[in-house]
Amino acid sequence: ITHLVWLRNDLRCQDNPALHFAFLEASSLQEGIAVLVTPTPKQWAKHNESDAKTGLRAGLINTLSSTLAQLGIPLHCLDTETFETLPELIAQFCTSNNIKHFWFNRDLPIHEQQRDQAVCETLKSLDISCHVQATDLIVPRDVLSQQGTPFKVFTPFFNRWITLLAEQDITPFPAPEKQADALTVKPLDLPWAKPYRDDLWPADQDIAKQKLWQFCHHKERHYKESRDYPIEPATSTLSPYLALGALGPRQCLEAIFYTCNQEERRWQDSIWLKELAWRDFYRQLMAHFPALCMNRPFKPETDALIWRHNNAEFQAWCEGKTGFPIVDAAMRQLNQTGWMHNRLRMIVASFFTKLMFADWRKGEAYFMSKLIDGEFAANNGGWQWSASTGCDAAPYFRVFNPTRQSETYDKNGDFIRRFVPELSKLDAKSIHDPKPEQRKLCKYPAPIIDYKPARLAAIAAFDELKGR
Ligand code: FAD
Repeated sequence: ITHLVWLRNDLRCQDNPALHFAFLEASSLQEGIAVLVTPTPKQWAKHNESDAKTGLRAGLINTLSSTLAQLGIPLHCLDTETFETLPELIAQFCTSNNIKHFWFNRDLPIHEQQRDQAVCETLKSLDISCHVQATDLIVPRDVLSQQGTPFKVFTPFFNRWITLLAEQDITPFPAPEKQADALTVKPLDLPWAKPYRDDLWPADQDIAKQKLWQFCHHKERHYKESRDYPIEPATSTLSPYLALGALGPRQCLEAIFYTCNQEERRWQDSIWLKELAWRDFYRQLMAHFPALCMNRPFKPETDALIWRHNNAEFQAWCEGKTGFPIVDAAMRQLNQTGWMHNRLRMIVASFFTKLMFADWRKGEAYFMSKLIDGEFAANNGGWQWSASTGCDAAPYFRVFNPTRQSETYDKNGDFIRRFVPELSKLDAKSIHDPKPEQRKLCKYPAPIIDYKPARLAAIAAFDELKGR
């Protein structure tokens, strides 16, 4: 074996550019490939990675190891703690195993880029060639304006993106072929693995793929009308798999193209595809504006905002005890499952940044520490959108009214009933904002915020920025 493929957040066999091209090249030379994973639990902790995501990651590494073993491809696991120790460790492994070619798919966050650069420099000094493949985007090349600059607004980005997409080959790369007799493997010992809701997200790339095709067959065409209602199982819930790369974006595209074709619809009009374009958009932004990876707002002037620090409010928000039923139901969904519906992410982030007027970075970090799909670009993008500090963000004067949002998107209160059981006996009207006596009876807290003055104060703080 002379070719080693390093997998990180791309834990899959199919549609994996590095694995595919390494296999092609190695086969043409009649050589073999092996796969390497390098868990860095201390680094993940520094990046606030949740136990749920770590748990799913461990499971996916093990499933991948078995799948590769069937193909006669060994998977090696080198445990270390942080990125700093990786160059030396990988170099040692490569020299003692006579590796000549090192392959991986490009990662975009800044620390990951620095890590990869350090590994490549060390390997090159040992005469091992590094082959860096396309990153996990639907359109992996730069999507730029006519002036050659990155887009800061989603709609023009999307228009350009869809044009480029129409021009590119979208067929997913096949998994490598069998290179030797099947290997016997034992489950890897991954001491950092954590329990998570594997009933909701089984650690299995094949199941992820089945979920994708089922979603595209049955739900994708209704997505536009139903995606905003958290009680409906109307979105794909594939985000944990996409975040860890158990599914590749081209696999999603293939399923969309097939379904639209079958139903004689234009794939360009798929609203689900448009959501996947947001994923690309935020990732590209992060790559073009490294300040985003350094805790900075996209709009520097918003750094002058003086956020409030109220620990009791922060705790109430984290625990789902704000006295706003929809906010509490959402936060409890996050705490209990590791996932939250997109409409609810917007509601709780708007509540946090506008009504509590708390620093979006604190909310972003809490989300990251709990989300099973926690992914820097999308999370940072979502938080800065909600806080009106980001590019193409919600206008600052648009402050979600949590009670109105609840009445619109959880009309009968069924979602609230699921996660705030103490309110389950209330009728569809009062459940969104129970009366004081109902709260007392249900042992449910009073609202921690007075909506109207809080909204006005937030708008005034942003208005003041304009006067500077
Ligand atoms: P679907 O509706 O089925 O969408 C399909 C896929 O498209 C998703 O799995 C995701 O990969 C991508 N996607 C959808 N919406 C967005 C979006 N607005 N931005 C970027 N990608 C998108 N998404 C994450 O994957 N990780 C995060 O850490 C994350 N944090 C967020 C924080 C906030 C404050 C907000 C408002 C949004 C955040 N999102 C994040 C985006 C979105 O909420 C989730 O991607 C979505 O809820 C996942 O559910 P799904 O797989 O059913 O999505």
